[in-house]
Amino acid sequence: MELDYKKYFLELIAQTSPEPLLFEVERAEGLYLYDKNETAYIDLISGISVNNVGHRHPHIIEAIKKQLDRYLHTMVFGEHVQDIQVKLAKRILSHLPFEQGAVYFVNSGSEAIEGALKLAKKATGRHEIIAARNAYHGSTHGALSLMSHTYYNQAFRPLLPGITFIDFNVEEEINAITENTAAVVLETVQGEAGYMPATSQFIHAIADKCKSTGTLLILDEVQCGFGRTGKFFAFQHYNITPDIVVMAKGMGGGMPIGAFSAAKETMLHLSDNPILGHITTFGGHPVSCAASLATIEVIEEEQLMEQIESKEALFRRLLQHAKINRITGKGLMLALHLDSFDQVKNIIQYCIQKRLITDWFLYATNCVRISPPLTITESQIIEVCTILIEALEFELD
Ligand code: PMP
Repeated sequence: MELDYKKYFLELIAQTSPEPLLFEVERAEGLYLYDKNETAYIDLISGISVNNVGHRHPHIIEAIKKQLDRYLHTMVFGEHVQDIQVKLAKRILSHLPFEQGAVYFVNSGSEAIEGALKLAKKATGRHEIIAARNAYHGSTHGALSLMSHTYYNQAFRPLLPGITFIDFNVEEEINAITENTAAVVLETVQGEAGYMPATSQFIHAIADKCKSTGTLLILDEVQCGFGRTGKFFAFQHYNITPDIVVMAKGMGGGMPIGAFSAAKETMLHLSDNPILGHITTFGGHPVSCAASLATIEVIEEEQLMEQIESKEALFRRLLQHAKINRITGKGLMLALHLDSFDQVKNIIQYCIQKRLITDWFLYATNCVRISPPLTITESQIIEVCTILIEALEFELD
């Protein structure tokens, strides 16, 4: 007899909220998630900006299978020469501005942030860190320390000392950066704040002040990287050079992987005094690396980045309604700003009934999340927007 998986999920799997989605997934393909009855649902959030090239892209599946037949884990990160890691690093660095760069592979976004913070402290000999209000950089202790919302981190104190918060997109805030600041950590497009891109003036002012004070600029591209905004990394819209770039999520094409990258001479700080400045057993797992390399190949070969601007424009054109106060975001990370969380909950409920899966944001609870696979077609965008507009029409005030 088939187990009642929903019941056992609630019983046996650690729960993170009182109201989990409880979508029982059977399989996933392209833009669609399928439930036990083979009903297809449009995935408008890509597992929160992960499945950038859609679910189970055939090129990624093939690359994973090829790697499975060669080797899985062989040794902790940094000891064995795994050609797939080297190929991936080379490909990632081709999108980064470092003259000579290096990549440290880890398992997740949070872990990449931890590594980046440690690297900045070691490279500068300073310990003060500046982060932006409304940022989300992860849930481990260091990453959680970069969160301004005390509701989410109060219970886990003490956190890292020496963290100061500045307002995102407020230029005067650069005065907080001094010669004691090890690093400024920013998302190029703030995610959980409701998809807020950095303004050009703000990010340039920050980059200039970092340069003049010897502070490292860490850009978190975990959610906005890997093509989502129409450039490989979102910071490429601005003509700036960060010191450390953090990536994960869309990087693995559905497999777990993260990384932080910096100039080689900066990265060398993790291999000397002490040696093994950062250690990870599974970081850069060969199967995840194979999936990641295949993801980049798909993004480039299918020219997905080239299509983002027109897909964004189509969403913006079709999503016009009296109840939408504004749309923020860049590329295919868009937030529909409504009046309240109740409205957002109603829209999400309506959409699920119409087989469309969307979500809200951690801090911007009045916003509906749009972050589909980049492979979404024009006709699928029209279908999605029709349902969203319908949802707004039916939504009771
Ligand atoms: N940075 C950003 C911008 C993120 O959106 C996230 C995850 N939502 C993280 C870091 C943390 O990544 P992970 O959940 O893989 O640890």
